[in-house]
Amino acid sequence: MSSRLEEQLRADIVEAGRRMNARGYVASNDGNISTRLDEGRLLTTPKSVPKGFMTPDMMVIVDYEGRKLVGDRDPSSELLMHLEVYKHRPDVNAVVHAHPPIATGFAVAGIPLTRAVLAEVVTTLGSIPIAEYATPSTAELPAAVRKYIKAHDGMLLANHGAVTCGKDVMAAYYKMETIEHFAKISLVARLLGRENLISREEVERLQGLRGMYGIASPAPLCADPSDLASGEDFLCQVLEAPESATERLVPDVDSVLRTASRDGEIRLTYGELTALIADAVKNLRD
Ligand SMILES: [Zn+2]
Repeated sequence: MSSRLEEQLRADIVEAGRRMNARGYVASNDGNISTRLDEGRLLTTPKSVPKGFMTPDMMVIVDYEGRKLVGDRDPSSELLMHLEVYKHRPDVNAVVHAHPPIATGFAVAGIPLTRAVLAEVVTTLGSIPIAEYATPSTAELPAAVRKYIKAHDGMLLANHGAVTCGKDVMAAYYKMETIEHFAKISLVARLLGRENLISREEVERLQGLRGMYGIASPAPLCADPSDLASGEDFLCQVLEAPESATERLVPDVDSVLRTASRDGEIRLTYGELTALIADAVKNLRD
């Protein structure tokens, strides 16, 4: 006999799977979801099942070593990655993995979502890095995720997809929605040719508001990202947010210049041009 809590968790996983499918975050049998049942057990999705068409009885109960305890089916092949998240995040009760196409496009292009452009994302997820490429379903993937999971609630997986975690199944699922939505907006802004970034001062102000909304994570910004040794696990976040004492939004002129071809025409607004000149003058003085 399963408890009321277990029944609710089974229903939550079914619902999150249904939404992942409805939003096109998965194809075929892709994706997996898990949640803590108690200190010794996890509830997780079965392998080889389309996640939009699951029923509560399909779920598998495993221990924190990944051994199956209850269930007619076998657990997902990405269970190792989920176990890694639970191991390093005692504050987290659920993990969601999917292949949302636009976020995964960024993961394929090797472009992390680490720019401060949307206040909502700065407040909830902060920076969304890319875990380095690992063969799916092997021990390589948990190792790649380990590097970022202590300081991030969501990350892209190079040439694969994305993974998120949260206090419960729906919280983890909503972070997946936020990542895909953010990726979509970033793509449009880049197609339009420019992005205004939120200044570091404003990012700090936004992070200060988190307590008010009851948001505990993500981790603080790294004071000096260059201090991080390459093999080290991240305990802070790297977020592209330029310093500006006067402006809360700062034109990302560098990216406009970077993407312009040598002989091509670039267009700068008056504000961008003056910011560029002010920056050049400042560099001369320094
Ligand atoms: Zn996958």
